[in-house]
Amino acid sequence: MIRKLLIANRGEIACRIIRSARAMGMATVAVYSDVDAGALHVEMADEAVLLGGAAPAQSYLDGAGVIAAALACGADAIHPGYGFLSENPDFVAAVAAAGLIFVGPSADAIRGMGLKDAAKVLMEAAGVPVVPGYHGDNQDPEHLSGAADAIGYPVLIKAVAGGGGKGMRRVDRAQDFFEALASARAEAQGAFGNADVLIEKYIQRPRHIEVQVFGDNHGGAVHLYERDCSLQRRHQKVIEEAPAPGMTPEMRAAMGQAAVRAAQAIGYSGAGTVEFIVDGSHGLHPEGFWFMEMNTRLQVEHPVTEAVTGLDLVEWQLRVAGGEPLPLAQDQIPLLGHAFEARLYAEDVPAGFLPATGTIAHLRFSDLARNDSGVRDGDEISPWYDPMIAKVITHGPTRAVALSRLTRALEETEVAGTVTNIAFLAALSRHAGFAAGDVDTGLIDRDLADLVETGAPPAAVIVRAALAVAGWDDMADPLAGVSLWAPLGQGVTLGRGDDSLAVTLCPRGPSRVDAVLDGARYPCERRPGGWWIDAQPAPASAVQLAGGVVVFAGAAWAFDVPDPLDRGSASGATGNLIEAPMPGLVKAVFVVAGQAVATGDRLAILEAMKMEHALTASRDGIVAEVLTTEGAQVAAHDALIRLEDDTEVEGAA
Ligand code: ADP
Repeated sequence: MIRKLLIANRGEIACRIIRSARAMGMATVAVYSDVDAGALHVEMADEAVLLGGAAPAQSYLDGAGVIAAALACGADAIHPGYGFLSENPDFVAAVAAAGLIFVGPSADAIRGMGLKDAAKVLMEAAGVPVVPGYHGDNQDPEHLSGAADAIGYPVLIKAVAGGGGKGMRRVDRAQDFFEALASARAEAQGAFGNADVLIEKYIQRPRHIEVQVFGDNHGGAVHLYERDCSLQRRHQKVIEEAPAPGMTPEMRAAMGQAAVRAAQAIGYSGAGTVEFIVDGSHGLHPEGFWFMEMNTRLQVEHPVTEAVTGLDLVEWQLRVAGGEPLPLAQDQIPLLGHAFEARLYAEDVPAGFLPATGTIAHLRFSDLARNDSGVRDGDEISPWYDPMIAKVITHGPTRAVALSRLTRALEETEVAGTVTNIAFLAALSRHAGFAAGDVDTGLIDRDLADLVETGAPPAAVIVRAALAVAGWDDMADPLAGVSLWAPLGQGVTLGRGDDSLAVTLCPRGPSRVDAVLDGARYPCERRPGGWWIDAQPAPASAVQLAGGVVVFAGAAWAFDVPDPLDRGSASGATGNLIEAPMPGLVKAVFVVAGQAVATGDRLAILEAMKMEHALTASRDGIVAEVLTTEGAQVAAHDALIRLEDDTEVEGAA
């Protein structure tokens, strides 16, 4: 039995692991980087050890530092969470060599599944169906193109060392093969230091269905049913669910058995996930699924499995790592109702899902959901790590109930201080095809424009924002002692994008005010339960931030409040500098000094947080200077490109 557990991770997963470990009576040790000194996971653990600087290589990826911390504080086991060191076989071997327990599979099991081509060979031998394709050693382009012809188009080129969709290209026609191959190989070489690829049949209308497996150190292996992760954007999961819609008992049995065979083939211990691609074009049937890869760790989306089985997977991990046999036999594992998980991120959806940063000024979760989070009011979403704020998980007796709860829970979730993807997630949860269970990995892309559209704020939301900005929320009795100005109108200006909204507030008596917006009059009255606007209960929550206000009404409606003292500073040099929105690597620069650019032109590509971000011109102009070079590592707000002053052409007086 493990007595003291070190958690080599941060954020929601570290907090989630600490909760289960504590519940089992274990002592817990957090590790952290200097920017995480005040983080929730540090506060929750019994002890905490500083690893080093913010960059993951100096902290959460520093395997030697993690092991030294565990030894110094007398921990007997290390839980890696997901990401960071969780699938690094050399780290696993070093943990064992230090006499510590690694909560997860053996280094050999991780190595066996580490490369997609080797894993496919292993799975074929174990009788697990794999996607038809070529996964041999011959990397000659002519040979690979011949393999693609034999498989039949469309095909998918995949980096054998791939992950996160990198080095992956869909090819529809033979004449496009060589170009796609070259770009997949180049991307794979850059990302993984390994340019080798495999070729697969591209499955039409694919669904991503994965099976949760568990093994112990006594030869036992079971599965905990499937999760459907077909709602993806750029191969990243967005909303997951369990069980898979349309799943039949025959197919579940076939997939479950295949996944258990996969785990047994590598002597798997602990929690793992076997990912399958499923042909969803003609409903689910036992011949229509193929092995894609195995993730040898706990997955982000494990809570949906916990919801439908009523089990604590981290508790299972810790018990198995401590030497116990699997707590339940296959036929003892329940499957109850339906569950969803939505991944809530700090990201700017209209700007192309750009990861965002900011200080969380206000955070409220719905009591309809399990909310796994690693942040709290006042915490900073730093540019150093994954910008996840929370996972919102709902459960219900049926899929329809669980999904309605998800919608409600997302509508009731309040985050201010950073932009988030909540409105997008809520729109997705209301999508008719999704509600009907008609999911595939292309759903989000097909309907992206509708899912991203937020529309204009309702009048009641604008008026509510104006009441907050004018200070009416805080006044015990708005008329007491202010009779001098009370009868006068009070003007409030709210900014939204490029629009400016003017609201005039005219006090009408105790706790009453008329708001005038676009010539229309909205009577407002403050009652004990909150504001009523135009004879309707108004959104309860309006949060004021520096320079803005956010009203929560099924979605977060943010408005800028222009600072009157600040006017005028927006002219001059502002708008001339193109800055790095976050720390990252400059992948490409497309312009040179003296070049004319138009609004929207791509100026440079910044690679940050595993994604490429195009930096574009926000106005027409001439490039004055290029202040960076390709390959440069830059910090947030570093100036990369300067445009000539709008007025420079006229010359200074
Ligand atoms: P990575 O390890 O880079 O994430 P995966 O092999 O897990 O790559 O595939 C990621 C996603 O790409 C899958 O979830 C699925 O949506 C899609 N995909 C993978 N293989 C195929 C295929 N053969 N046909 C169609 N889509 C595929």
